[in-house]
Amino acid sequence: MKITQAQFIISAVQPHQYPEDALPEIALAGRSNVGKSSLINKLILRKNLARTSSQPGKTQQLNYYRVNEMIYLVDFPGYGYAKVSKTQREQFGEMIEKYIRDREPLKLQLLVIDIRHEPSAQDKLMYKWLKHYEIPTCIVATKADKIPRSKWDKHIKMIKKSLEADPRDSVVLFSSETGLGREQLWDIITEAIAT
Ligand code: GDP
Repeated sequence: MKITQAQFIISAVQPHQYPEDALPEIALAGRSNVGKSSLINKLILRKNLARTSSQPGKTQQLNYYRVNEMIYLVDFPGYGYAKVSKTQREQFGEMIEKYIRDREPLKLQLLVIDIRHEPSAQDKLMYKWLKHYEIPTCIVATKADKIPRSKWDKHIKMIKKSLEADPRDSVVLFSSETGLGREQLWDIITEAIAT
């Protein structure tokens, strides 16, 4: 994918702030620190557009990035941040569930998992919601450079098993360090917005 334009649009805290131009949306979910910002930066080939590790306590905003006047990447707040209160956690859940349930332009959800670790309870819950609302989902196993290539298969199997993943969902090995998986992920995104 040739990136001609990439721009931060808004941190939306309320649905009325979501863009209204009906461009397809690709959303990203994952625990805090999993590498979502790095993944966005790698996808759009910008060093710092999505700020890495930005304000992990902000549980209630969706960050919108517009790419090539063609799609929005929608970054969910990272979950699992220890210092977040129960109320904030509940607000997070409500906001995300509502978005997934009602957001018509949502074409594909990326669930970003650290390849080294078993998916958390919140990863599993997120995946269940996605399946429940029949959202096309792609599991992205990132930080692949952190384990030897010989272990990739085993870890991917572990992640799929733990999520009870639908065999139809694609799984992409990714590394924001090396760029592994970048083209494959763009292909999956391009296909998702074409259907
Ligand atoms: P976020 O909180 O999910 O947005 O996570 P960040 O993108 O800020 O990444 C958290 C930390 O993991 C940072 O120190 C990144 O440099 C590092 N990181 C993210 N992705 C990768 C990756 O693919 N490989 C390696 N080695 N480090 C990564």
